[in-house]
Amino acid sequence: MIMKINLKQYGLYLLRWQLSTPILAIVLIWLGSTSKLFATVVANVIGGLFFFWIDRFIFTSPALQAHWEIQDTVLCCDCGVSARGYRLVKTKNYDKTRAIPKFRCEVCSEKKTQQLRQMGVLV
Ligand SMILES: [Zn+2]
Repeated sequence: MIMKINLKQYGLYLLRWQLSTPILAIVLIWLGSTSKLFATVVANVIGGLFFFWIDRFIFTSPALQAHWEIQDTVLCCDCGVSARGYRLVKTKNYDKTRAIPKFRCEVCSEKKTQQLRQMGVLV
């Protein structure tokens, strides 16, 4: 099984997690005389108010996403093997939404992905 991870999205998500640290610290100092559990709950509510929007942007923004289509069984357009097929449909500067779909097996998809990275289509 292949799992394609959008590294830009993943990096932003990890950075976003770091933003929860100062909120937690500030609220724990601010409400330090109360229960630590209560202060943590308040910090999480405050964080949730901000991070809902940030997470939504990270996971839904077209600027950050590459749209892939995956089919369980296809004939690879490069090598002809019958296998699970992958095709890149759309990125910020690449659009094959109206093209005749060409699926590739995992091995050929990796080769094509490297080519697209060299062309600057994928990061
Ligand atoms: Zn192939």
